[in-house]
Amino acid sequence: MSARILVVDDIQANVDVLEAKLSAEYYDVLTANRGAKGYEMARREKPDIILLDVMMPDLDGFEVCRRLKADPETRHIPVLMLTALDGRDDRLRGLEVGAEDFLSKPIDDVQLMARVKSLSRLKVVIDELRSREASGRRLGVIEGRDLADAALLGGVGGEVLVVDDNVRQAARIAAALKDGYRVSPIGADSKGPPPDLIIVSTHAKAFDGLKVIAKMRSSAVMRHLPILAVVEPDDPERALRALELGAHDVITRPIDEDELRARTRTLIRRKRYMDALRNTLDQGLELAVTDQLTGLYNRRFMQTQLGPLVQRAAHGGEPVSVALADIDFFKRINDTFGHDAGDAVLKEFALRFASNTRPTDFACRLGGEEFLVIMPATGGDVAALAAERLRQQVAASPFRLRDGGGLDVTVSIGVATAGPEDQTADDLIKRADLALYQAKSEGRNRVIGATAASLARRETGLAAGLGAS
Ligand code: GH3
Ligand code: MG
Ligand code: MG
Repeated sequence: MSARILVVDDIQANVDVLEAKLSAEYYDVLTANRGAKGYEMARREKPDIILLDVMMPDLDGFEVCRRLKADPETRHIPVLMLTALDGRDDRLRGLEVGAEDFLSKPIDDVQLMARVKSLSRLKVVIDELRSREASGRRLGVIEGRDLADAALLGGVGGEVLVVDDNVRQAARIAAALKDGYRVSPIGADSKGPPPDLIIVSTHAKAFDGLKVIAKMRSSAVMRHLPILAVVEPDDPERALRALELGAHDVITRPIDEDELRARTRTLIRRKRYMDALRNTLDQGLELAVTDQLTGLYNRRFMQTQLGPLVQRAAHGGEPVSVALADIDFFKRINDTFGHDAGDAVLKEFALRFASNTRPTDFACRLGGEEFLVIMPATGGDVAALAAERLRQQVAASPFRLRDGGGLDVTVSIGVATAGPEDQTADDLIKRADLALYQAKSEGRNRVIGATAASLARRETGLAAGLGAS
């Protein structure tokens, strides 16, 4: 889907020109000719990118940008400021109020498209991360409000790596950033934290800066790091190339120190935003699939895994088996030795369980003293053997209690294999549950396969159906 771009400019002719150029490149264009209207529209329409004129009669571009960046609803939308050609102060103010970038008027087509393309790429990533964060929140696995937003508002301070063979220019960069940043030249024996920003010269004699950028982009470690390319003023082609290869931003020589500081802050702020989202996601996902007490997979994970496996089996794919295990007389352990001892037994049980499953199996704790092993691509016979091995591992040696004593623990297991009659994971687990029930009623400490149990279910199901009619 092509990006939606909001153009805010008080002069209709400017709006028309931009609209025509962007539409020709298949962007969806929304327009507003007043600052206040532009802000409202951004809130309502949530465009992917905003092109914002500075000079407007009601709210000027700075104020609109300030409001956009103060508003959690619109903060993440990249803003491209449109400034006068000689508007150095405007550009700096724009970056200070949080604009991602600026373009000077009259607008150069090539520059416009390069900036828009780079910002829409950024927006795609931000959207993806935000939507995953939102679903993490819905599932309750990501907590702490506005963590990512807080990161977006920061951005001062950090590690900057300079890749430049021009000693004077490198010194100038270091001087400009000396307040708040740690600047080190590449090759410096760096044992410090990894960089937050890399500044690469594209006109170095000792190396090909464009190649360096391309290489960094394709490296797994460096891929997420922002790159600021330093370009010659009379070489727009190279600037575009740098952006195409993956530089996030360019700055023209001779380097203006204020501009460098503003761009540095914006780039690092954006990186922190991405990092924060990524971290909450990783933690969230980890928490989302793990049972807290035992470290096994939890019920939620089981549900996401088993459904597709059962469906595949039902449609002629590989079979999938499950072993549903329930510790025998567990309540008695709790009652006799206390809840903590019960927890310790659950942990050791989980350990024996997990270490006796194959790497392709999933050992899950469904809750309480009930566990499930998912065995993909495994038929009923093999699954029954695997379950029997688990049962033996539990019964073979006593569980250690904290006071040094030992405790004999046994487990009952029901095994079921998905066939064409199992349309859902629930069906399969129900059959395993019936087998487990049978194992319990036949004296515990045993494994029962589901065939007989499922027959029993059909009979009781039939009986229940007759009873109801
Ligand atoms: P059976 O052989 O029929 O399975 O008997 P049982 O005592 O194991 O089964 P029952 O379902 O009656 O009891 C399970 C007990 O497990 C009851 C509950 O208090 C306890 N339990 C559930 N979750 C936990 C937990 O996280 N930690 C501890 N210590 N106990 C738990
Ligand atoms: Mg039990
Ligand atoms: Mg139970």
